[in-house]
Amino acid sequence: MVIAAGFWCFVRARRGEGDREGFTDAAIFTVGSVLVSWVLLMRPGLESAGESATERVLAAAYPLGDLLMLALLVRLLTTTGSRTPAFRWLVAGNALLLVADCAYQYTSMTETYTGGLITLPWLLSYVCFSTAALHPSMRRLTDIGSGETDPQFTRGRLLALTLASLVAPGTLLLQLALGLRVEAWAVGLSSVVLFLLVVWRMSGLLRRLDEQASRLADLARTDALTNLPNRRTSDAELERLQTRARAEGSPLCVAVLDLDRFKSFNDTFGHQAGDSLLVAAAAAWKAHLDAVGAGAGPERSVMLGRWGGEEFVVLLLGHDLPAAAALIDSLRPTTPAGQTFSAGVSGWDGLESAAEVFARADAALYAAKAGGRDQVRVADPPGPRSGEAPAPKVQPGAAAATEPVT
Ligand code: GH3
Ligand code: MG
Ligand code: MG
Repeated sequence: MVIAAGFWCFVRARRGEGDREGFTDAAIFTVGSVLVSWVLLMRPGLESAGESATERVLAAAYPLGDLLMLALLVRLLTTTGSRTPAFRWLVAGNALLLVADCAYQYTSMTETYTGGLITLPWLLSYVCFSTAALHPSMRRLTDIGSGETDPQFTRGRLLALTLASLVAPGTLLLQLALGLRVEAWAVGLSSVVLFLLVVWRMSGLLRRLDEQASRLADLARTDALTNLPNRRTSDAELERLQTRARAEGSPLCVAVLDLDRFKSFNDTFGHQAGDSLLVAAAAAWKAHLDAVGAGAGPERSVMLGRWGGEEFVVLLLGHDLPAAAALIDSLRPTTPAGQTFSAGVSGWDGLESAAEVFARADAALYAAKAGGRDQVRVADPPGPRSGEAPAPKVQPGAAAATEPVT
């Protein structure tokens, strides 16, 4: 009892986060062992015990105590703490104690205990316990695992769990095959409990899988530096907005923004300062767009994404081309650190592909760069009227000037 209490304290101290799996695994293994112990030790022990109540209680108490020790041993093995030498000595001591106890009970059913070979594991178990107590790593025994919250689903554990879950049907088959008495109640009850535990364990794994899948999906959608939607997401979003714009008959515009002379900013202030500027610009633009977009009503939406490098993309649903160009132009004074950007804005004609409407915005951006940077240009409409005639420079508050020149 004292040993069990000690182990219980170790288990409590070594539990990390996400330890539900460890508990369930230990429970599955223990329930399997209870059935084996019942068939091999407890029931025969009870039957061979005398009539007196004391004898019967003693016959039942021994295997029960051992099951408790086994449960704590398995539970200790499923905790997330590190496997120090002291930990291994403790586990070995407990295992030897169990071996000795079971051997004693099994033999004492047929003969009286006279010492002999089974005394050896008993003695060795005490040696193991004292070695553990004296080992310097004993101090770290109660440390929780190294921040690792996923208890590893190792091959060994899978094998142990498989065997443990097969104990109930296995016992039944053996009893039938060998013509032994069939323990219908014991087998039935333990099967029910084992099934429930396995299903509980599976639900835990599924929940973990769901969490990981959604975390991975978030990572795949988001740009790591700025936390904005990345290029993949922006592409997908444009296609989604095209469908919506067609259905609602709303205008849809695409803007491509590129920081001016960013290479020399990096060269002057360093790459890290460049990164910080990207983050700050993304945050400032997003705050401005969100603030403007908030009052715009549900039929309008604005999404800022990072296209790659120092290029950004803005998708504007429900804004006609002059309004979209004016909105992008209003981002210029919000850009941090005195940095400027150039931008090209194109209006979707309802027929072009996502790539085509992007390409026109990009061509307008190119024209803005060529025209001296720090400006917003409106793209030519698509179709036969091609010929790269740059639109006039947009002045803040002069939305009319953003009409494309045809
Ligand atoms: P322009 O006005 O013609 O756009 O000149 P630019 O220097 O901005 O254009 P260019 O395409 O020549 O250089 C872009 C630079 O952006 C190159 C690269 O050093 C920098 N850059 C791209 N991605 C990152 C990033 O994630 N972090 C930092 N710090 N710099 C980046
Ligand atoms: Mg640039
Ligand atoms: Mg660039």
